[in-house]
Amino acid sequence: MRRLALAFALAATAALAAAPEEFSTSAGTLRLTPIQHASLMIKAGEKVMYVDPAQGSYDGLPPADYILITDIHGDHMVPALVDKLKKPGTVILAPKAVAEKVTGATVISNGETKTIGDFKVDAIPMYNLKPADNGQIYHEKGRGNGYIVTYGGKRFYFSGDTEGIPEMKALRNIDVAFVCMNLPFTMTAQDAAVAVRAFHPAIVYPYHYRGQDTAVFAKALEGSGIDVRLRDWYAK
Ligand code: ZN
Repeated sequence: MRRLALAFALAATAALAAAPEEFSTSAGTLRLTPIQHASLMIKAGEKVMYVDPAQGSYDGLPPADYILITDIHGDHMVPALVDKLKKPGTVILAPKAVAEKVTGATVISNGETKTIGDFKVDAIPMYNLKPADNGQIYHEKGRGNGYIVTYGGKRFYFSGDTEGIPEMKALRNIDVAFVCMNLPFTMTAQDAAVAVRAFHPAIVYPYHYRGQDTAVFAKALEGSGIDVRLRDWYAK
């Protein structure tokens, strides 16, 4: 009996880490699985897309049809893992600085759009507005990409590592947003909430939030009409 309970507990833990978020689109259901930190997987129309496959476990996950990478840091880009997820024909979109390190990547730069299968991908700037307290600028403008992925008429925004830049605040018609927050690399939960209020997605998920209190983010968006969805992106 106790063994059975343990088996159920283990199954529940596994399901928690891999539970997909489901979104209806005009092209059918899109399922998005948080993997860890900034890493996630999308399944839609029989295709598999990874965004920033770098952290968490990939055991049992399918090979990639498409891979999007935002930046060169190790929590976004792991060339050996990209090689592992690749199969013949996998399309990898990445900024130039990443494409120099990841074999087979196609360069997409800030402001460019590419269509891969039924997905449209817009590359959006991501950068720091000011140096961190230690004087470092972790993300220089132009090096990395945030992305808007459009599928079946729904627009999904992945911020990458950024502060609440004017280009983010100017976004419109975002259905689902994934927004970073962590210091010293990106921004505080408060600043993220200010930026999110400005572009007003229908739904927002904090991601890439290690060390931040996402409840602060949710509280700062109370009354905004934005659906804030807190998930555990660091499940053990
Ligand atoms: Zn990062």
